[in-house]
Amino acid sequence: MLSYRHSYHAGNHADILKHLTLIALLEKLRAKDKPFVCIDTHSGSGLYDLQSNEARKTGEAEQGAARIWQQHSNDAGVAQYLQLLKTFNPGSRLRRYPGSPAIAQSLLREDDRMILMELHNNEIELLRANFQHDKRISIHHRDGFEGVLALTPPVPRRGLVLIDPSYEVKTDYERVLDTCVKLTKRWPQGIIALWYPLLGKEKDRSSWLRERFSQKKFIDLLSIELQVEPQTNDSGMHGSGMFIVNTPWQLDQQMQLSMQSLLELMGPSCEFRLSRLS
Ligand code: SAM
Repeated sequence: MLSYRHSYHAGNHADILKHLTLIALLEKLRAKDKPFVCIDTHSGSGLYDLQSNEARKTGEAEQGAARIWQQHSNDAGVAQYLQLLKTFNPGSRLRRYPGSPAIAQSLLREDDRMILMELHNNEIELLRANFQHDKRISIHHRDGFEGVLALTPPVPRRGLVLIDPSYEVKTDYERVLDTCVKLTKRWPQGIIALWYPLLGKEKDRSSWLRERFSQKKFIDLLSIELQVEPQTNDSGMHGSGMFIVNTPWQLDQQMQLSMQSLLELMGPSCEFRLSRLS
């Protein structure tokens, strides 16, 4: 049974990295007139109330998006992310946090499409309530790893897959790797954006994942990691990373500038690493 609920974590540092990257990738797709498809394999509910008991219990957004949302950035990517948060929050408090489905929806054009998948019985109901009225979006109550392979290659062929598991099931690490390998065979031109956590020494598997990703020889593989505190000996999350397969042209230079700009907002205890693995 799945127990992870993203409402405890929405707007934390991991969401900032993931959603900044998602916006940058979608902007690359929007740069051409041709339609694209955005597939989100692990959607969550799509929109979060930061005043909910769950969000208040962890206070993660307070240390993440709430700390930076009213600041100014000269970087276009960071400024776009901050502006999006302001659009969802016209008042003086950061109350609503848009998840990946809401962020992508805000960037879809008339002919673009989005496919959302979610396995959790409660989250899928919230997801449906939030997005079922948009004809560009189809919503599936299914396993995202299985679903993305069943639904690809999509029409149109241009597009992006966001894979954002909770890693609460140990086999998720093997499944993300296996899914990415199969996905690149089924849909060679599809962009893949995979999120993974940086955990304390007891549980961290980011090095394992990086080694496997490097060995599989994915095309144009980029890695971006944001670390917000030193690694501990236990299992706590001190940062997270993204692998991007089929990295669009110049995205690495763009994200380098965005991450530098983000660190100016987040403070000196944070650091980032961006590397081209192929
Ligand atoms: N992508 C969302 C965002 O950025 O706003 C957050 C997603 S959250 C980290 C992970 C979600 O995946 C949870 O809602 C969880 O219920 C769901 N999930 C877990 N295993 C899944 C699976 N095998 N297939 C689809 N969804 C799954």
